[in-house]
Order: sequence, then structure tokens, then C-alpha cells
Amino acid sequence: MLPYGRQSIDESDIEAVVEVLRGDWLTTGPAVAAFESELERWTGGVPCVAVTSGTAALHVAYAAAGVGNGDAASDEVITSPLTFVATAATAALRGARVLFADVQPDTGNLDPEAVAALASWRTRAITAVDYAGHPADYDELRAVAKRAGAVLIADAAHSIGAAYKDRPVGSVADLTTFSFFPTKTVTTAEGGAVAVKDPLRHAAAARFRNHGLVRDPAEQRDPEHGGWHQEVHEFGLNYRLPDVLCALGLSQLRRLERFRARRAELVARYHLLLRDVPGLTLPAERAYVTPSWHLYPVRVGGGRRREVYERMRAAGIGVQVNYIPAYWHPVFEDLGYRRGMCPRAEAYYAEELSLPLFPDLSDGQQERVAETLSAILG
Ligand SMILES: *Cc1c(COP(=O)(O)O)cnc(C)c1O
Repeated sequence: MLPYGRQSIDESDIEAVVEVLRGDWLTTGPAVAAFESELERWTGGVPCVAVTSGTAALHVAYAAAGVGNGDAASDEVITSPLTFVATAATAALRGARVLFADVQPDTGNLDPEAVAALASWRTRAITAVDYAGHPADYDELRAVAKRAGAVLIADAAHSIGAAYKDRPVGSVADLTTFSFFPTKTVTTAEGGAVAVKDPLRHAAAARFRNHGLVRDPAEQRDPEHGGWHQEVHEFGLNYRLPDVLCALGLSQLRRLERFRARRAELVARYHLLLRDVPGLTLPAERAYVTPSWHLYPVRVGGGRRREVYERMRAAGIGVQVNYIPAYWHPVFEDLGYRRGMCPRAEAYYAEELSLPLFPDLSDGQQERVAETLSAILG
């Protein structure tokens, strides 16, 4: 089965990992800092904290943004329903009340007007998702966040290497999270990172990743114990990304520009190959963004999405659906969230189909995908 996404591993990745395995460090060693600083070249210099997954990155981001730090009255988080459930689940795990704002019908990104309608003094954070690798409308979201006194977070699991109005993703929101799962543009097997602009929030993110441990005697409440002493001021978790995986990530980041370019080339080819297929809507692109495409999301009209999904899979083409509206998950249903709340996200979900997109997809494989889809719909 041709997958919808997969990693691209070469000899340089393998060598980088083997070199760490032969060395002194398996977990936190020099590759962690090296990976973080290489990542900072992609975030416009905004400092990064490497963690064990994109989900951990979101959990860390919410903690560093002050979600769930005591003031229950102002712990609302507004986000998109058209995302992987982790964007909302991690906020809920911090004790936040999650509000879902509807998306733009063409990009699938958070609609700033829908966010504005939900924002208030209770809003602690607004989390945009750069759906498919296309940056959200950050200037408009920033204006809403400013009025509400909220932190602006970008879930950039899809969009590493993208730019919004010539500003790299990672430098636009207050906190930006990345995922390095194998289907994403850069992989560390499992892994993630959070880019944090504010130095105090950056320190909070780094502490949360490491149990909340405070090691600097100058910051300790009771530094008199001795050199071994470390203390916890706020609870954290072990979200440390090991040296072995950071070495893989460092090696992968060196090919990010090539990955991005090949994905863009494949997207341009899909646009051409599929432009005349009846009943198909191709992904939109704003003039002021440079996407870094993770998905190629088409929409299948006429109520035929499920049929097309099944026929493509039967033909050995592993199409995917991204995503079921997050609040349709039973866990949210049980909390009282109801269908119909975000009609544009639900309409998008009803038609969405992600076609195979990854750097090693050959032109010939892509043509087979396009021909199979055309034959079904033609
Ligand atoms: C992949 C993904 C995540 C979670 O990342 P993991 O590394 O799988 O934990 C979160 N949000 C979005 C939008 C994603 O695509």
C-alpha cells in the first residue's frame, strides 16, 4: 500500500544515529543543544526546547503559557476543531475549558472572526493550527489575542519551514509547537519541539520538560543542602528527547529545504494533474504565505468521499482523512460538546481526503494516484 506520508531516511541519518550510539551519551547530551540550535535557524532565531512528541510540545506550551496555573476563571483555550485531537486534549489535561472556533471554508484554518466571537477576558490562549502546512492568519489572530490579553500559540506540526508574510513559522506566534512523527516533514521517530519567544516562558518550558527541576542555586528556595540538591517548584514531566533522536533530527533538518521543495513540486504537479477532475476541490493558498505542505487535502463533493476513500485503498493507495472534528470524539461529547457547533469544519471533514505526499513519492507513483482518482470521479 502506498502510504499517505512517510519518512525519508538516508545514509547520513543512519550514520548520525550510529555515531551517538558509539559515544558516551544516550539521553541528554550534546546532540540536544545542537538540534535545538539548528532548529532555531528555521524559527527566525526563536529559542527552542526539544521534547518527546508534538503532543508533549503542546502540553509544555500550555504550561508555559500559564494555562492551568491556578486561575481557573481565566483558563479558556480557543482552538480549531480541524486538527489532531492532541491540540485540544493537552489543553483539557491542563484543566482548561476548550472552546472550538470554526474554520475558513477554503484553507481549513482557524477563522479569526469566529475566534473573536468567543474571545474574552477568560481566554488564556488561542491555538491556531497550520492545517496541511499552510500558515493561519496570524495578524488577525494576534489582534484578537491582544484585545483578550491571551497568549497566541501555533500548532505547527504540519508547517515547519513555512512562512507567513515572509516571517518563518516559529517566529510569528508567542509559542510554536512542532511534531517530528515519521509522517511529518522532519522526523526523529517520535519527537517534537516548542519555540518560545519570551525568556521566562522559555525557562518554564525547559523546566516542565525535566520534571520542573530547579538546579541553579540562585533560584532555589533552600540551596544549603549541597551540590546534589535540586528542587521542584511547579510540577513537570519527563519529556526529554534523547540524544540519539536529536542526532537524527539534526541530520534531517539539514535536508528540510530539499524536503520542502520536493513537497512543493509534488503539490504543483497534483494541482495540474487534478485540475479538471469533476467534483474535486483542490487546496487553496493565500498569496502572502509560503506553505510547507505536509498534506495534500482534496475535497470530494457529491457525498462520495467514503466511496472514493474505499476505492483508492482497494487500489493500494493509502489515502487518509484529516481530521474528524476534535469535539466529535466521545470524550468531548461526554463533556456536552454537540455536533453542529462548527458547521464549516464539519463540512470540510465530510469531504476531505489526503492524497499521498512525501519527498520520496516518485512522479510515476503520483501519476498513478491522480489517474486512479480521475477514473473514479471521471
Ligand atoms: C501530529 C500532530 C500532533 C501530535 O504530534 P505527535 O508528535 O504525534 O504527538 C499535534 N497536532 C497536529 C496538528 C498534528 O498533526
